[in-house]
Amino acid sequence: MTETEKLEKYLFNEKKCGWDLVNDEQKQEIAKFSDEYIHYLNRCKTEREAVDFTKEILEKNNFINVQEKVVLLPGDKVYYINRGKAVYMAVIGEKPLETGLNIVGAHIDSPRLDLKPNPLYEDTGFAYLKTHYYGGIKKYQWTAIPLSIHGVIVKTTGEKINVNIGEKDDDPIFTITDLLPHLAIEQMDKKLKDGIKGEDLNLLVGSIPYGEEKIKERIKLNILKLLNEKYGIVEKDLISSELELVPAFKAKTLGFDRSMVAGYGQDDRVCAYTALRGILDIEKPRKTAVCILADKEEIGSMGNTGMESHVFDTFVAELLNKTNSNRPNALEKVFCNSRMLSSDVDAGLDPIYASVSEKNNASYLGYGIGLNKYTGARGKSGSSDASAEYVAEIRNILETNGIKYQFAELGKVDNGGGGTIAYILANKGIDVIDCGVPVLSMHSPYEVTSKFDIYEAYKTYKAFME
Ligand code: MN
Ligand code: MN
Repeated sequence: MTETEKLEKYLFNEKKCGWDLVNDEQKQEIAKFSDEYIHYLNRCKTEREAVDFTKEILEKNNFINVQEKVVLLPGDKVYYINRGKAVYMAVIGEKPLETGLNIVGAHIDSPRLDLKPNPLYEDTGFAYLKTHYYGGIKKYQWTAIPLSIHGVIVKTTGEKINVNIGEKDDDPIFTITDLLPHLAIEQMDKKLKDGIKGEDLNLLVGSIPYGEEKIKERIKLNILKLLNEKYGIVEKDLISSELELVPAFKAKTLGFDRSMVAGYGQDDRVCAYTALRGILDIEKPRKTAVCILADKEEIGSMGNTGMESHVFDTFVAELLNKTNSNRPNALEKVFCNSRMLSSDVDAGLDPIYASVSEKNNASYLGYGIGLNKYTGARGKSGSSDASAEYVAEIRNILETNGIKYQFAELGKVDNGGGGTIAYILANKGIDVIDCGVPVLSMHSPYEVTSKFDIYEAYKTYKAFME
């Protein structure tokens, strides 16, 4: 190497592809971890399913429901489930809670189609279910693909019926039809966002009539009869249901070189899974390690299972009570001394749509975990801007642990923007930075990530909580 080359190497922040840095053994480790992640994606297509899976794994790993513990000691592992849709976990540290927590927070809800309260109707030979979309979707992406129905129906007696139909090989699937191109001249002239209307996202669910012809809606009647036989419900019971339509296809390894994962719901289950795997590896940390898997991020984090609710504060207060360290203002002090990674996905640069990204400040698939100092839109509006001091602290953790990372913005200035749960925790006084896996086709039914980045995310969350 010449002197100039040496100087260049020393001074430049060189961007290198992660795959150039791993040996065969590490590649195998990454492949194994990704296979386990793909299994998780196929089992957890909704927030409720993610909570059920998480609870199972936590209990296998000696985590105990915090309500069953009277006293908490360093090394104790606890969790709290908020209404079956969000989970908070903690491994109690050696130092008092007031010295602060190390929090990793992801969300387990994803964009999808929900059923309306009165969904079932019949029209000209078909039965349909009406939907209302959840989160930021491109509506045209949800037609002409196989969809499955997941969720619960609750009767007035409190009896809860779990529904999961369209995933098994011999299950039927459902779909939303689209217009044939031959007759779509008018539709094709519309703006992309107007091509499919929200009120036209109606799920096709049947076509056989039941009984004698004088009955008015015989196909609808047949569907209700079938639902009654299978679930013991009547039409009214659909009012008290939460049924979500998600893509019926499976998450898979992507590419001849098997370097990527394609699957539904990777925003943000890729960060949820890696954060969960991270906390499972924490034994007796110096400071208490906390992992949050939140609901309702995709629709603004509101409601009692969203991050804006005070249920998380109550969980931390419970930790204070049970470590015998609660006193006036203790909770506020805990938050002011805490730090957090808001582990949510980042927009990866897509070469086909490169014009929306600024190449020096974009995340690239395969280049490691992506960090956003701030998000927001139109002059950083509405974002939590991490301080230089905190960014330096995080860089130090990443560099000490040999983790590949990249700092980016969500697209070009004034091109759009986005939000996460970061600001909600930052408003409590916590140091927060967005930190997650870059994704292509975000919010689509089939999102793409790099296996290299998934593994770096796991290493990041683990190192941060340690
Ligand atoms: Mn997200
Ligand atoms: Mn999202």
